[in-house]
Amino acid sequence: MKIFKEIALLRAFLGEKKKFGLSLGLVPTMGALHRGHLALIQAAQQANEVTICSVFVNPTQFNNATDLEKYPRNLDGDIQLLESAGCDVLFAPDTKEMYENASGLTFDFGQLDKILEGKFRPGHFSGVALAVSKLFNIVEPSRAYFGQKDYQQFQIIQVLTQELKFNLQLHSHPIIREADGLAMSSRNQRLDNKERTNATALYRALMIARNALHENASWADARQAAWKMMEETPDVKPEYFELAHRENLLVQENVSNDDAVLLVAAHVGKIRLIDNQLLKE
Ligand code: AMP
Repeated sequence: MKIFKEIALLRAFLGEKKKFGLSLGLVPTMGALHRGHLALIQAAQQANEVTICSVFVNPTQFNNATDLEKYPRNLDGDIQLLESAGCDVLFAPDTKEMYENASGLTFDFGQLDKILEGKFRPGHFSGVALAVSKLFNIVEPSRAYFGQKDYQQFQIIQVLTQELKFNLQLHSHPIIREADGLAMSSRNQRLDNKERTNATALYRALMIARNALHENASWADARQAAWKMMEETPDVKPEYFELAHRENLLVQENVSNDDAVLLVAAHVGKIRLIDNQLLKE
C-alpha cells in the first residue's frame, strides 16, 4: 500500500492513474478502523481499480474539545488493517496539511444541519462538509463511500455534492453491527465493559420502536417505550429519539413506514453514540 501525508505527492500519484483511465474509489475515515470501515473499503474495491482510504481526524467537525482530544487514534493499527484488506492507497495528512491558510470557511445547509445531530452538535456538519470537499478536490474520485451509520451526514454530503457539482458517484453502505446489535464505531473503544454492555440500549430502542410501529402502535407510544427502556438502562442518557422522513430528514409523526427512518443519540458513560434504523429496508 502506498502511504501519502502530502497533498501534492498524492495528487501526482493519482494523476498518473487517471492518465490510464483508472477509476478511483475514496473511503474517507477518521481512523481507528474497524469492520464497518473495512466493509466500505471492500465495496470500493469491488467497483474501482484504485481504492484510496483517507484517515484524518478533522478538527472542524468537533464541537467539543475533549471529544477531539480523546478521539481514538491508531495509525499503525490502521495501516496493518488496510494492508491486509488490500487497500491501494492511504492518505493520512496532518492538520496543517489540510488547514494551512484556513479562511474559516463555513457551510450552511439550511434546515438540514440544524436538526437532529445538528441541533446537539452546532457546526459539526459544516466541518464535515469542509473536510469532505477538500478530500473530493484533492482525490477527484470516481466514487466515494460512506456509511449509513452516519445517516444525516450522508444526506448532507448528497446536498454538498449536488450543489458544488462534484463529478462523482456517492454510495451509502449499510451499518455493520456487533453480534449483540451495537453499531460498530471507533468511539466504542472508549467504553468500559459495563458501558459496552449497556450501549446495546440504542439498538434495542430502535428495535422496540420499529416493532411497535410495525404493529400499528402510535409514534408517541413507540417512542415512549423506547425512551423509557434507555432511561432505565444504567450509564445511558438518551439525547434524542426521532422518527423522520428518510430523504429530507424532517421529523414527522405521521410518516408512513415505507418512508421513515428512526434516529437515536445517547450518552453512554462519557461517550456519545448514534444509531439509526430504516423502518423498511
Ligand atoms: P468515521 O471514521 O467514524 O468518521 O467513519 C468513516 C466512514 O465509515 C463514515 O462514512 C461512516 O458512516 C462509516 N462507518 C462508521 N461506522 C460504520 C459502521 N458500523 N457500518 C458502516 N459504516 C460505518
